[in-house]
Amino acid sequence: MRAVRPLPATRAARACASSVALAAAALLACASCAHRAPPRAAGAPSAERAHAAAARCIVLYDDSGPYAWLGELYAAGAAALASHFGAWTALPVSRYARGTLRAYDAAIYVGSTFDQPLPAAFMDDVLAETTDVLWIGDNIWELSARAPDFLARFGFLPGSFDQRPIHAVTYKGARLSRHADGTEGVMSYRALDRSTAKVLAWAQRDDGAALPWAVRARRLTYIGEQPLAYVTPGDRSLVLADLLFDLLAPGASERHRAVVRIEDVSARSSPAALRDVADRLAARGVPFAVAVIPVFADPLGAEDEGRPARVALRDAPEVSAAIRYMLERGGSLVLHGYTHQYGGVNNPYNGVTGADFEFYRAHVDAADHVVLDGPVDEDSESWAADRLSRALREMERAGLPRPRVFEYPHYAGSPADSRAIARTLDVAFQREVLFPGALRGTGDDTSHWLGLTFPFVVRDVYGWRVVPENIGNYVPVPYNQQPVVTPEQLVARARALRVVRDGVAGFFFHPVFDAAILERIVDGIRREGYSFVAVDSLSREAP
Ligand SMILES: [Zn+2]
Repeated sequence: MRAVRPLPATRAARACASSVALAAAALLACASCAHRAPPRAAGAPSAERAHAAAARCIVLYDDSGPYAWLGELYAAGAAALASHFGAWTALPVSRYARGTLRAYDAAIYVGSTFDQPLPAAFMDDVLAETTDVLWIGDNIWELSARAPDFLARFGFLPGSFDQRPIHAVTYKGARLSRHADGTEGVMSYRALDRSTAKVLAWAQRDDGAALPWAVRARRLTYIGEQPLAYVTPGDRSLVLADLLFDLLAPGASERHRAVVRIEDVSARSSPAALRDVADRLAARGVPFAVAVIPVFADPLGAEDEGRPARVALRDAPEVSAAIRYMLERGGSLVLHGYTHQYGGVNNPYNGVTGADFEFYRAHVDAADHVVLDGPVDEDSESWAADRLSRALREMERAGLPRPRVFEYPHYAGSPADSRAIARTLDVAFQREVLFPGALRGTGDDTSHWLGLTFPFVVRDVYGWRVVPENIGNYVPVPYNQQPVVTPEQLVARARALRVVRDGVAGFFFHPVFDAAILERIVDGIRREGYSFVAVDSLSREAP
């Protein structure tokens, strides 16, 4: 049986030769693990076996055709989610060796290349049910065709992808969003026996019809689309994250925690505003992070009629004192770049600290979208490391403690930057931008990327423990296709995130706005059953 649908641009055939197995626990750099053999079956006496045996979860992914990079990106995202529960291994499915699944507590197969031929050994091992398998997206029809008794055993037969508009997925009584750009459809079913297959979540078609979004029978769970595509706050990717608890931490109890970050604090910040924020959060017993930019720069004089400015924190002692005041009242430092702008150019706005990108180039296109262009010209690990050390030195000169947490300006930096910075500050409080190359060992490829948010702390392929920002920030005025975000919307996103049984809601707030708005957001999130925690304590939970 074969699912039928037009072949979208992101689907294709044929194999990509280069591949590696990477254990996140070891956090090996690409070069050192390239061409490593795939993990062997349990019992095979080899270094790879020990390597594989340490991992609890294996992520298998499609690797054929011109979109092999996409399979790798989704796999890196799935692996980051799995990292929350322990070590993992990733392997192109074409390199699968018979018996491999038995070495793992759980397996995630990410199907992203329509009709990629799957190894019989892999499908036979899935059907042998020695391991819990979460199957995502494409090629479930190859598995169902492999077993004549598939319907009897698993209670469903896949049909074709239903490409009519679907903007919601319901799960645990919550209605989660699905981005409008996600037009690749959700699997429909030729047959479904609900006495055998349990429907875990439903896709809600705009015309009112519902179809299963995720089903489970015995040791097989199937999600009928790619949930890591077009991820937005409060969306159906949360279902994937929560289902991983069933596979990797079934005993986890319900717990909901939140983190808040005070954003873009620099020499030009208002000391009074910073003290006000600290007082209000301290009065509530809410710990908070403070994202500090050690040097304010306006090289083009955008804020002062063409007169350039450059002010380090040490030259703004009243601001440094206000930051210390915050730290005494539950604040903890996040290093938010060095200048939060790039050189003497508009990148993309006006060259001013807090507005522009620092570690990546960007422009605003004709449709008013911010477009990531690529790494800066001089990008390298040593360039990023040098910038980081200058930033840390400025923090010291300002009399501030050394930060332990990093946050990219606008969350953007190259893989080389991330690896370099993570070697010194191994915790990041941000969203994730993943690039192809780390899993396959093919070298950094910044021509493609995948933006993700996570609903708990993860360890990424660059070496960062990532404390998540995943519900956004208060935005009173729209800009660059970014709509208004009200305090109530932030609270609603936190409510949606409650479907993750042990999740963390993270948001940030600019102290240029009335701190009473911050209080409304914090109080609203608490009313949803969250307790605010410090970033430092949270990051220590990461594997
Ligand atoms: Zn910023």
